[in-house]
Amino acid sequence: MTTTALTYEDVTARYEPVIGLETHVELGTNTKMFCGCPTGFGAEPNTQVCPVCLGLPGSLPVANAAAIEATVRIGLALNCTIASWCRFARKNYFYPDMPKNFQISQYDEPLCVDGWLDVEIDGRTVRVGIERVHLEEDTGKTLHVGGATGRIHGATESLVDYNRAGIPLVEIVTKPIPGTGAMAPEVARAYVTELRGIVRALGVSDVRMEQGSLRCDVNTSLNRPGEPWGTRTETKNVNSLRSVERAVRTEMLRQAAVLDAGGTVVQETRHFHEETGDTTSGRSKETATDYRYFPEPDLVPLAPDPSWVASLKAALPELPRVHRRRVQERWGLSDLDMQSVVNAGAVELIEATVAAGATPAAARKWWLGELARRANELGVELAAAGATPEQVAELQKLVDDGKLTDKLARVVLEGVVAGEGGPAQVMAARGLEVVSDTGALAAAVDEAIAANPEVAAKVRAGKVAAAGALVGAVMKATRGQADAKAVRELILERLS
Ligand SMILES: [Zn+2]
Repeated sequence: MTTTALTYEDVTARYEPVIGLETHVELGTNTKMFCGCPTGFGAEPNTQVCPVCLGLPGSLPVANAAAIEATVRIGLALNCTIASWCRFARKNYFYPDMPKNFQISQYDEPLCVDGWLDVEIDGRTVRVGIERVHLEEDTGKTLHVGGATGRIHGATESLVDYNRAGIPLVEIVTKPIPGTGAMAPEVARAYVTELRGIVRALGVSDVRMEQGSLRCDVNTSLNRPGEPWGTRTETKNVNSLRSVERAVRTEMLRQAAVLDAGGTVVQETRHFHEETGDTTSGRSKETATDYRYFPEPDLVPLAPDPSWVASLKAALPELPRVHRRRVQERWGLSDLDMQSVVNAGAVELIEATVAAGATPAAARKWWLGELARRANELGVELAAAGATPEQVAELQKLVDDGKLTDKLARVVLEGVVAGEGGPAQVMAARGLEVVSDTGALAAAVDEAIAANPEVAAKVRAGKVAAAGALVGAVMKATRGQADAKAVRELILERLS
């Protein structure tokens, strides 16, 4: 394919995107979906396995009640209808990380159907339809070793770890989302952000994208205005919120170039490359018939009792949207200011910083200022910018106590995010504390006055504004570590 000079604006002026998202959430249950094996992350390979999750002949699965409850709660939080009767299904395919050669999933009888989730972007609400929420089991993990890239090409050995095989996995599938135009990438990101917040509020998963407990496949298609929807591609395993946005944008640009050249978009899965933001062709997409689904004969059907479902619904926690309204009021922020907090992904960080003792205004200032800038430079989420809410609160307290000026605090924060320790530690190590020794300060003031007799004379004659030059001299002499306000007061006192 030739490279093109298409800009994103070119694309959205002539094409309309339709997106869709399939999100997998690994549930944080103590045991696996169909056996009693533990589910902890990071254990030695193949130490959390048994005959059931290894698919040994004669072993039989038993469904995990906690996983079913968690899935129903996710469905309820997404405004879904909960099936009164449904079954698991066998999805047949061979892959080395799937020891049974089939996956127990759900097919035409999902546990939750037909819901929606409202997503807010720049004051606009987009209602994303939810097609289904179903329950299945995760696969194991294949590691290709001996090569440079960690991919199978060039590897000398492939190793399989079955610890993850059988961990309960909830799949949440949206309906196609048309009509978002140039906003499509942001809508995709906002949807995953909101969904992650909901799952976290429910307490059913730690939803850590970097550990793979929340994984996203992004469907994208393009059509010319007035024409039927285009052929969609599915970009697999997009592993950060930023990448969700980039994956949609990249596919829109790529597909537009194909269509502009008179080509056709092939229905296929594509792999997203975190380093470059590109996608490359994977396999051509299987259709449902390739999987030869049939009802799982080793498990009884699920028939959630309506009164049990009603009690789960009544006990749902406060969901993020409602929660945001409440903290916005408590923090006294305008809609616009709150939107910037939400866009930066800073709601929880600010809350935690306030809980650690800072005022909402101070917490917001640090997270949306220095730390947002750093996260942006590094291309990481705000939470990974290098400081914790507790450290930010501590930093602000040092300012409030007069031990640091705002300017010095920014230097201290640089040290904190560079991994030099907590604020007090960095302040001590770098010798950044405000000069509060009045003797030393008085000496510096006297020196400045002696060195600038004409300026001092002007101040004595009532030209108070001239004192600025003396303040500057003292600040220079103390390497910026004096409190400018205190210095000024001291100078005026001396020259009154
Ligand atoms: Zn097991």
